[in-house]
Amino acid sequence: MRAVTGQVSRREVLLGTAALGAVSVLGTPGCVEATPQNPLAAADGRRLFTLGVASGEPLPGSVVIWTRLAPDPLGGGGMPPEPVRVRWEVAADEAMRKVVKRGTATARPEFAHSLHVEVMGLEPHRWYWYRFDAGGEASPVGRTRTAPSAGAGLDRFRLAFTSCQNYQHGYFTAYRHLAAEDLDLVVHLGDYIYEGRVRRNKVRRHNSGDCETLADYRNRYALYKLDPDLQAAHAAFPWYAVSDDHEVRNDYANDRDSDPGMDRAAFLRLRAAAYRAYYEHMPFRAAQRPVGPTMRLYRAGTMGDLIDLNLLDTRQYRTHQPCAVKWDERCAGTMDAGATMLGAAQEAWLGARLHRGAARWTVLAQQVPMMRRMRMSRGAALYNMDKWDGYVAARARLLAAVRALRPDGLIVLSGDVHAAWAGTLRQDFGDPASPALGTEFVGTSIASGGDGRAMRPRARRILAANPDIVFHDGRRGYTRCEVTRQTWRSDYRVLDYVTRPGAPMETAASFTIAHGHPGAEPT
Ligand code: FE
Ligand code: CA
Repeated sequence: MRAVTGQVSRREVLLGTAALGAVSVLGTPGCVEATPQNPLAAADGRRLFTLGVASGEPLPGSVVIWTRLAPDPLGGGGMPPEPVRVRWEVAADEAMRKVVKRGTATARPEFAHSLHVEVMGLEPHRWYWYRFDAGGEASPVGRTRTAPSAGAGLDRFRLAFTSCQNYQHGYFTAYRHLAAEDLDLVVHLGDYIYEGRVRRNKVRRHNSGDCETLADYRNRYALYKLDPDLQAAHAAFPWYAVSDDHEVRNDYANDRDSDPGMDRAAFLRLRAAAYRAYYEHMPFRAAQRPVGPTMRLYRAGTMGDLIDLNLLDTRQYRTHQPCAVKWDERCAGTMDAGATMLGAAQEAWLGARLHRGAARWTVLAQQVPMMRRMRMSRGAALYNMDKWDGYVAARARLLAAVRALRPDGLIVLSGDVHAAWAGTLRQDFGDPASPALGTEFVGTSIASGGDGRAMRPRARRILAANPDIVFHDGRRGYTRCEVTRQTWRSDYRVLDYVTRPGAPMETAASFTIAHGHPGAEPT
């Protein structure tokens, strides 16, 4: 995406409500002049749009466009503590000549001068281009796409899903390739940032110690968002995003950190800061704006009559992980009927969605793997207690609902484990006679884990112990999905290395699911 200065002249740029009073020129071409009290003077001529642009939450007539003014991105943003008016434009062409919507929005210091403009009145299922303008500077031009009309006959939709981008472990080369794909949507399943401190002998270095304050999280998001490959992927497509654990702290569950030394009140303060910074840096709607330590991340998108996309949150409402250690034999807690991964409200919401679902394919886009991934070690069957494997009753409840409600073409998309897996979801895992209820595609990481290998001994042991799992690849990348009325095809796109830039992209494996025939077949 190239920056286009276009016809927005320096004289027309809107500046500083603090200096100018509450002058609203929304919907007019805009002609408020800069004044000597212009708060952007403090930006000192430095670039404002250092973190790029993004769009997301596509609806048939609406999409969110995002940016953040940050002349000093790693030092708190560098903006004066005042609100700033910013012009935005949405056009039907990349050159931004055919502007179809324009307006102004206020970047507020309490939200780190981020902007989340919910542009309305657009046409369904078409490309648009957008940019912002402040202080005489135009942002890069981003491209976005609205969703198809609900219920409209749709023959084809293409999406890619990603997760787990530990900056210290590697370059975001996968995003460079993703930006060049032919997609309608990107879905991010969490671990957008990693909250941890600087580690030595890594490919790239974090900018601080462990994130502990809102300022720390903001600077960490800024570090990630300075990455040009990530910026390119945001500028190319609209995104839907849900967070996992590392947006807050490793393996957190609800109100509890994985570090038993942190008390509940302190953890919830941390979670509030983390969610706020996440909101500030992603193209969310106002419905996702956090209130204290709560943030409504579970929500749905509909892609014509083809896809019901249900975005789930498996961190905020779950009961605490059972058993003693992360990979453990099943203790009684794993079977606790009172345990939950989604919480009662989200579970009821999802049940109603599955009941009503009218699209050809029903997608659950969520974080931790749902399929059973047991591993034998010295005669003991070990399960990862942070995943659905630690919440057996909750998973059985969800799969029982799937069996009763028979949502069309159930596809579960997961991330979190830094490796690609594909498998069949069954009421009774490991029993090929148990009916297949859906197909799960677990995507690999963008960078977390560094250079991966296609196969390792531990993965081989998991494949051997779980007949429902038919595929593994431990290299970095993303998963591209082509959805038609009859088939769902997932292509596992992988790179051989991320510890230096420039790796070529290849498809490690493809799986095609025929509608009405759930389950991944061995390739
Ligand atoms: Fe991760
Ligand atoms: Ca994770």
